[in-house]
Amino acid sequence: MAKVKGLRCRECGRDYPVEPIHVCEFCFGPLEVVYDYEEIRKRVSREKIENGPKSLWRYVDLLPVENPTVGLTAGFTPLKKAEKLGEVLGLRNLYIKDDSVNHPTLSFKDRVVSVAISKAREFGFDTAACASTGNLANSVAAHCAQAGLNCFVFIPANLETQKIYGSLVFNPTVVAVEGTYDDVNRLCSEIANDLGWAFVNINIRPYYAEGSKTLAYEVVEQLGWKAPDAVVAPAASGSLYTKIWKGLKEMKEVGLIDSVNTRMYGAQAEGCSPIAQAWREGRDFIKPVKPDTIAKSIAIGNPADGIYALQTTKESNGDWETATDREIIEAMKLLAQTEGIFTETAGGTTIAVLKKLAQKGAFDPDEVVVAYITGNGYKTLEVLDGHLSEPVRIQATLRDFKEKVLAKV
Ligand SMILES: [Zn+2]
Repeated sequence: MAKVKGLRCRECGRDYPVEPIHVCEFCFGPLEVVYDYEEIRKRVSREKIENGPKSLWRYVDLLPVENPTVGLTAGFTPLKKAEKLGEVLGLRNLYIKDDSVNHPTLSFKDRVVSVAISKAREFGFDTAACASTGNLANSVAAHCAQAGLNCFVFIPANLETQKIYGSLVFNPTVVAVEGTYDDVNRLCSEIANDLGWAFVNINIRPYYAEGSKTLAYEVVEQLGWKAPDAVVAPAASGSLYTKIWKGLKEMKEVGLIDSVNTRMYGAQAEGCSPIAQAWREGRDFIKPVKPDTIAKSIAIGNPADGIYALQTTKESNGDWETATDREIIEAMKLLAQTEGIFTETAGGTTIAVLKKLAQKGAFDPDEVVVAYITGNGYKTLEVLDGHLSEPVRIQATLRDFKEKVLAKV
């Protein structure tokens, strides 16, 4: 028996075979991977996973790949008990899932891309591509270099310089499009229809998105095979947020844990918060917005999985909060100065929202709360311009050191 049954339309429920397709021909709903959980239940055990590779591939039985060949070092990032940040926020069991140190390109995207590119190779593609706000482009470029695939990455032209270099170094064709991510994505959908390429977040999306489930699996295992009481995760397309929830439920489904009572909290930047706005207004549909925020990596104005994210919030008794650009910068500094973790603006958004939720009493002080840090601050240094103290400049003399440094501390 195969672990994957096929693809299924999330809207009308029509079934499709395992192919590089992502949209239902009848209702245009998105397709999702469907598993045979009875079969998986026979294959998995805590012991087998614990003895598996120290990467996300220790959960290969729950992923839509038969033979992983790319991204073999992705995942299995630290879950850090955040004692000092927890003290500031009044939380005694706060944890940071730290994907700022994911391998090889320092964001959670290495999870979804290692699954997508391994799957693209199984399908026999020789060219991979993506529409990206930066981190995905870095990861696709790196994994294509590993796999020897041709690579095209499409990004908004106004992206942070470090993120553009972080793709160029792997020598893909980088296409900088005048417009927002939503413009880039629309263009790529047209291109994907014309060319026989593996667009990881278009025609490979059903497989790609499954990689985010490993963020849930790892946390459960790292907590000693327990689901957290609450999760705070950033949302751009809404895919990561919904897949963490899917991953938690699957752990129960296949018998690895007994219960899941996790509340799912979503974080968006105030300047691009279409999902949070829908939640606040009690809508079950998304009104697209034009992004205006420093949190470019999560600036998606028309989120593909927005409505499913809302369903996840409802199902799990969660909530949404937003953070302004100023709050995002302050939260990046707070995380760095309490836990020694340097995240980018998406992580700043998560921590700012975590702080707001804690202040409004969303968590019991003893609850196990996990905040997902999905990207690395060294990639977006320019957002900190004017927000940090200056180095103390001195001549190379003991006198200067004593006068300008020691006398002032
Ligand atoms: Zn359908």
